[in-house]
Amino acid sequence: MHNMLKPNLTVGSIFDIDLQSLMEKGYKYIIIDVDNTITAWNHYKISQRLRNWVFKAKETGFSICLLSNNNQAKVQKFASELSVMAAPVGGKPRLRSFKSALTALRGGTHNTLVIGDQIFTDILGGNRAGLFTILVDPIDNKEFIGTKFTRLMERIVAGRRPICKSHRQPR
Ligand SMILES: [Mg+2]
Repeated sequence: MHNMLKPNLTVGSIFDIDLQSLMEKGYKYIIIDVDNTITAWNHYKISQRLRNWVFKAKETGFSICLLSNNNQAKVQKFASELSVMAAPVGGKPRLRSFKSALTALRGGTHNTLVIGDQIFTDILGGNRAGLFTILVDPIDNKEFIGTKFTRLMERIVAGRRPICKSHRQPR
């Protein structure tokens, strides 16, 4: 169980991920969380920095699919504004949500990355699906009330380090 909670890679934010070297290792697909991974919680505005990152990822050769437990209509709209896909099934960490994202991407377990800010949804689910998992610091400390308890468990059960201030992204 403990291993399933451990990300393959931990970074401050999506902007710290070396997409080029991951592409060279054979990764081509990205399943990515929305709230607190690419935008502040429930703040569905697209920053220029995020738009540039998505553009660069696509230019490097990646296909991107959003996978979120938030309201699916909102997620679909956000995805189309970003010109990326959105998984048809939410409900992380359940396997079927990750499978729906893989199917949408036509990706395989060996060439797909999962990026997210939560251990018990993004990392646990991604690891169980056999994918390469990348944990980022949450963008903001504003979040869904239920997540506050989860954060405490992440520290106690998964030994997550406190968020580094230098990792904070501008909104
Ligand atoms: Mg999140």
